[in-house]
Amino acid sequence: MLLFMAGIMAPRSGRLDRSGKDKEEDSEKSAPAPVYLETYARGELDAKIEQLEAILEECTLCPRECGVNRNKGERGYCNSDRQLKVSSVQPHFGEEAVLVGTKGSGTIFLTNCNLGCVYCQNYDISHLGYGRVMSEAELADCMLSLQNRGCHNINLVTPTHFTPQIVKALKIAIEKGLHIPLVYNCGGYESKHTIELLDGIVDIYMPDIKYGEEANAERYSNAGDYFERCKEAVKEMHAQVGDLKLDDRGLAWRGLLIRHLVLPNGLAGSEAVMKFIATEISKDSYVNIMAQYRPMYKACEYKYKELSRWITMAEYREAISIARRYGLHRGFHII
Ligand code: SF4
Repeated sequence: MLLFMAGIMAPRSGRLDRSGKDKEEDSEKSAPAPVYLETYARGELDAKIEQLEAILEECTLCPRECGVNRNKGERGYCNSDRQLKVSSVQPHFGEEAVLVGTKGSGTIFLTNCNLGCVYCQNYDISHLGYGRVMSEAELADCMLSLQNRGCHNINLVTPTHFTPQIVKALKIAIEKGLHIPLVYNCGGYESKHTIELLDGIVDIYMPDIKYGEEANAERYSNAGDYFERCKEAVKEMHAQVGDLKLDDRGLAWRGLLIRHLVLPNGLAGSEAVMKFIATEISKDSYVNIMAQYRPMYKACEYKYKELSRWITMAEYREAISIARRYGLHRGFHII
């Protein structure tokens, strides 16, 4: 059933799942250059790198605000010091069709995470620290190799705790010819200030909105203020890049793409999440309502028994129907 549902939700044909919106409304014949090239040309990238790197001295990159000096090797909640750590670099064909196209999304999966989800679907990378240390110059070369392989974008997965190092790598890559959109694919637990510093750097923001309730965010991700911080950050993201825009090939080139993973027993708080998106962001938001939850990592422990099963078709349909009730219409299919 999961495969069936996932297949409905995310077609891989290279064409779009732009439900309810006419092609002419949201496509451009040719997409503009990535926004980071303009920022670089104006000579503004170095100042942003400097400001981001300064945060590492007393880290407040994310809402945890650990205050550790990562430049001296100290580690906060995300278990990361100054050095970049990367778990994989590859064209990915399992992302949204608007990112995958025909050549794949150029995925760079960063190691470790600033969240603590007990059901983490990538726990070996995000919790167990699988990956290898990499310099900024090596990361820049990875970006270029993905571009050379034809990928349509650079998709940085779980980038939050390595934002300064990533932007530093981006500058090196720009000087070597990088020219495809940059995707910031994050868990949604973001500092508004860090997102403000990314203005003019990121083309496509792809945050999760995981929870609409404080108690569940605390219990399952150790982040009771998740929804509040996430809402602030997503508003800032939308102010920078707007709704998701597509070119005439159906590929995203700028905008906001929100993901919402439906959890069993209504634990994701889909009602509050969809209401927020529709009333405080935009009814034209592109929202991937995801059905692929599996009970991974600690989700099968007895104390989390409410998370210990896949979702049902009825639960997935309920999330879709909530989204539709609030007037949302892009990124998911009616089933
Ligand atoms: S990025 Fe890591 S060290 Fe910095 S505030 Fe967040 S969890 Fe703490």
